[in-house]
Order: sequence, then C-alpha cells, then structure tokens
Amino acid sequence: MPANTDQSTGNPVLHLSNGSLIDGTGSAPLLGTDVLIDGDNISAVGPHGTVAVPAGARTIDASGMTIMPGLIDAHCHVTFDDAQSNDELFFHRPPTTAAMITLFNLPKLLLAGVTSMMDPDTVMGIGPEVRDVVESGAFPGPRISTGVQALLTSVGGTAGRLIPDDGRVGYAAVVNTIEEMVTETRRQVKHGADWIKIHATGSIPTHAGELQVWTLDEMKAVCDTAHALAVPVVAHCRSASSTRDAALAGVDLIMHASFMDDEALQAVIDNGAALCPTFTFLANLADYGEQVGAGVGMQDIFRDEITATAAMIRVAYDAGVPILCGSESGFALTPYGHWHAREMEVFVNELGLSPVEAISCATRTNAIAMRMEGELGVIAEGARADVLVVDGDPASDVTVLQDRSRLRAVISRGSMVDLEQPWPERRSIAGETVGNWAAEILTYERSMAAAGKG
Ligand SMILES: [Zn+2]
Repeated sequence: MPANTDQSTGNPVLHLSNGSLIDGTGSAPLLGTDVLIDGDNISAVGPHGTVAVPAGARTIDASGMTIMPGLIDAHCHVTFDDAQSNDELFFHRPPTTAAMITLFNLPKLLLAGVTSMMDPDTVMGIGPEVRDVVESGAFPGPRISTGVQALLTSVGGTAGRLIPDDGRVGYAAVVNTIEEMVTETRRQVKHGADWIKIHATGSIPTHAGELQVWTLDEMKAVCDTAHALAVPVVAHCRSASSTRDAALAGVDLIMHASFMDDEALQAVIDNGAALCPTFTFLANLADYGEQVGAGVGMQDIFRDEITATAAMIRVAYDAGVPILCGSESGFALTPYGHWHAREMEVFVNELGLSPVEAISCATRTNAIAMRMEGELGVIAEGARADVLVVDGDPASDVTVLQDRSRLRAVISRGSMVDLEQPWPERRSIAGETVGNWAAEILTYERSMAAAGKG
C-alpha cells in the first residue's frame, strides 16, 4: 500500500501509547504521553490513560521511546539523484529520467523519518509535477514544497561557465533583465511553484569565494512579482552583502547566509526573513570528504566557513529570527536518506542549541519551508499527522535521529510507512555519470617509467 493513503481508504485510528513526547515547540519532553491519530489529523494528545481510545484503534506501545513530529528537510534537492559533479547535474539528468528516479529515491526519505521536504530548484523544472503525482497517492513520498528552476543571471551561480548566457539548463533558468526576471517569475507561478528561487551569489574565476551577482533592484523585482501572486521567494546567499540585499528586497527565506556582518543581520531582523544555513554539506566535506576523495585540502576552508557563519546565526536565533534546518541532500556527499538529521547535530555543536531546540528548528520552524506553519511540525490536537516513534532519547543525544535502525514507526499523513521494506537499490543508468577517458595524464615519460626504461 502506498505510504500516503488517507482517511478515505479506511486506515485504523492509531494510538501511540505511553511515550516520551517531544512536541516540536522546544518544550521539555513530556513523559507518559498518549497520541491519537485519525487519518491525517492528530485528534488527541494527553497523559497516558486519559485519552479515549476508540474501538478498532491500532495501539503502538511507545513505552521507553520518544514520540515526536516527522522531520522536515528545508533544503533537499530531490531531483538531483546524488550527483557527483556539476557536469552530471547539468548535462546528465534528462528530465524524464530525473522524474522517474526522483520517485525511486523518495521512499528513502520516508525510511529516514523525513515526512516533509522543501526543494528550492529542480531539474528542468519538474518539481511541481513530482509534488502533484506524490500528493495523488500514485507513489509514496513525503509532503513536498517546491520551486521550479533557480533564477540565475548570466554571471551564473556555483557552476561557473557551465551556465549558458541565456536559456535553461538543469536546475537553472538564466534571466538577464528585470523584464526577463518578472516574466520567468510569472511563468513559474503558472507552473505551480510553491517558491521562487534566486541564486544571489556565484563563482567567477578571478574572485575567491562567492560574489553577489544580483542587484538589490533585480531581487526586488522578483520579490514584488512573486509576492503579488502570493508566492514567497528563497535565495542562495553566500556573502554578507547578498544576504543584506536579499533581506532588503523582501526575500522570505535565505539559504546559507554565510559570513553575515552586522548590517546583513540587521536587515534580516528588520525585514522578517528566515534563515536556513545548511551546514550539513560543508560539515560532511570537512569531516568525511577525504574518505570519498572529495575536498582534499579544503577541510579547513569549510570548517572556517561553518565557524564564522555559525556565530552570526546564533545571534540571529537569539534575536528571534526563524532558523531552519536543511541538509542539501541530493549530492554524492549528501545522498538521500542518510544525512537529513545531521544539521541538528551541527546546530547543537556549533550554535550551542539544546537538542530539543534543534529538533524544534527541524520540525515546527521548518513548517515555514512547507508554507504550513502551525499545521505541521508539532504534536498537538488538530495538527497534521506526520509522527515518529524513536527508540532512544533524542532530547539527550540528537544524533540518534541519524540512525534509521532507531525508528520504530514513521507515520506519514496518518499512515504507517512500511519500515520492513528493503532499502531502494539499483544499478547505474546508461549515461548518468560523466565518462572520463582516464583519471590521470599518460605522458611518454610515464609509459617509459612503467616499462622500466625511464
Ligand atoms: Zn541548495
């Protein structure tokens, strides 16, 4: 049975019995709590034994375990298929294959306890179609909030000269004038965008680090157009000035917000933007990159970016700025189903949050990314029924949420996900990776040395 069947299919009422409740609000865990789930609705929450359990309900004994909201990943590139390089991402992901493989990958999120995710930009704009197919129940998957393609100026983004001077490639739509920015924003809204994504910084060969490649006026044109059509805007900003200008322009959610200065932070606070630092990708590179042949020599650079950015994110958190939790899954360094919960560990270690506060970021606060604030990411009467039962105490050690074997129940839209199903496995698809002729250069001298004649 697909994981996202609803009440109309006659699911029994679920009764989670006598667990320790982390409700997603940041409150201390409540021991001995019962939760009742009726379709896609949490119908009762109360001390063990006080909740009236209807006949025919299915009881799940949660004694000694934790009941908490399903995880929300606020930054997950679900159509990228764990790409190893930008070449792969832009030139080896035809949209039909990408759509089919996205449906293959989505159950990995559910199996990892991720019941909702936000995808800011998608291969050739397939996001809304994937979302709608999953929401119909045709294929299992978490709730999806999605952008179409990221808006890039012809300066590009993080893929440098792979980005053409105009037109579309991979996750990118190139827009060069304010008129094109407005037109593309309207087009994406027509095609079902939940979010419009701006790539506000990019890499150019003569500059270290990412440079702001959009003006304030350009970002404002996109924000004004999107907001007039009731759609929020998310921006990738890996510099202080881009974060400042994005906030001033009215961007609702800023990804990364690296190296914020006081001016950028003040603009974020004054304009009510939310931040999603997305440390996980950098942390994986810094801590484990060498093991998979990536980022050799870059560890210190990424570690420094995390430390510098985290200090300002903490100040923002204390000032009441919503801080969202995202993994940037979709790359070889952040494969689906493995790292969605790691950001909470980084929030504890680098921001100094308590585990329960970090969990609140990944649940209640992350509902902002789903545009479902108040409805999702909390265990409360009337909230949507995305719930986990975890064998462990994430309130004392948040890393237990990274261990899929600790999940005793994953409830998505009121239905139990089959945790006994095998992990999705497949062989490689013809043409999906970049083919190299050789890993190194074969010089004449090398051939002679190999032949013992050098
Ligand atoms: Zn991203």
